[in-house]
Amino acid sequence: MIPLNKPVQPDLRKLEKFLDRINNKGWYTNFGPIHQELTEKLKEYLGVENLLLTNNGTSALQVAARAIDTKSILSTPFSFVATVSAFKWQKDELAFTDIDPITLNLSPQKVEAAYQKGCKADTVVATHVYGNPCNVDELTQVSKKNKFQIIYDAAHAFGVKINDEPVLNHGAASTLSFHATKLFHTIEGGAIIFKDKSALEKAEEIINFGIRPERGIVDVGINAKLNEYQAAVGLVNLEVIDSILEHRVEMFYRYRKNLEDVVELPKWHPNSNCNGAYMPILLKNGRELHDISNRLGMHGIQTRNYFSPSLDKVFVDSHNYGSKVSLASAERVLCLPMHSYLSAGNVDEITNIIKKAL
Ligand SMILES: *Cc1c(COP(=O)(O)O)cnc(C)c1O
Repeated sequence: MIPLNKPVQPDLRKLEKFLDRINNKGWYTNFGPIHQELTEKLKEYLGVENLLLTNNGTSALQVAARAIDTKSILSTPFSFVATVSAFKWQKDELAFTDIDPITLNLSPQKVEAAYQKGCKADTVVATHVYGNPCNVDELTQVSKKNKFQIIYDAAHAFGVKINDEPVLNHGAASTLSFHATKLFHTIEGGAIIFKDKSALEKAEEIINFGIRPERGIVDVGINAKLNEYQAAVGLVNLEVIDSILEHRVEMFYRYRKNLEDVVELPKWHPNSNCNGAYMPILLKNGRELHDISNRLGMHGIQTRNYFSPSLDKVFVDSHNYGSKVSLASAERVLCLPMHSYLSAGNVDEITNIIKKAL
């Protein structure tokens, strides 16, 4: 049995030391010392400034939306549902436009075309799909011309850089997810990286019931704080993050080398590193996808048709400036097993089954 994903197991001996510290202080949540330490270590590791931890990646998106005060968004239909539902949750108007067929990321040309056709969205929401960064330079250019802000769902893009610059520093905000299935995790958790310090300060209030210390209740807020136990898991996992990334990247390139002449593979940004967050392949069509996933399933190998469905099929009452590529990609994209406990032998076994089938 080879699972699609297997969460990183935190080192229990290291974790116990942190839990002892928490008991000794009697400080379990509300921006405690472990929370503070994880914030500082992540800022340093990721090369970012205005980072705020949250209790998950979906609340990170919701809080970013409120801190930046979005009212209407133009988004990619090719992402996890939370990318879009976080904004629907606060009753933002929603529109979609299409992705690039080679990278599967939101297409800057299609965004420009949507604004030419009268799109009025104040914010574009784009996902760095599978950790492959969007064309951030072109999106920035289009945003300046059409005067919208950009929020990046960077849930897959932990540790990703373009020309050695963290991809998280693009846009008004980028959000991360530290869910157990992600390559860096705190069981449940997330973070927002803001361009502006003022937005960070507003978000600090929002995640704490709208309370600003010394000033009282200054805003409508929610409770989206990461607790000390989960921050401790983060610190323990962060100690081994380099080996986690190294292993995933090695498996990623092994898969790609084994499969490069056999299936279509999304094209990566030319100036970015890979983090091995996911291993997507593109089959010819839905029928071939089901054939391959069934064959792998018979060998106990889990796969997932991710992302599917294209989100314009879920949020049918939103404006759609085009989603043909997204609809077609959602039919034929398959994610193969990728996690810390996957071996080179596993990868070869999986790719051999695919090669034989095709
Ligand atoms: C995982 C994920 C989220 C949601 O994160 P949670 O921490 O599970 O709430 C949002 N967007 C994308 C693209 C994701 O993969």
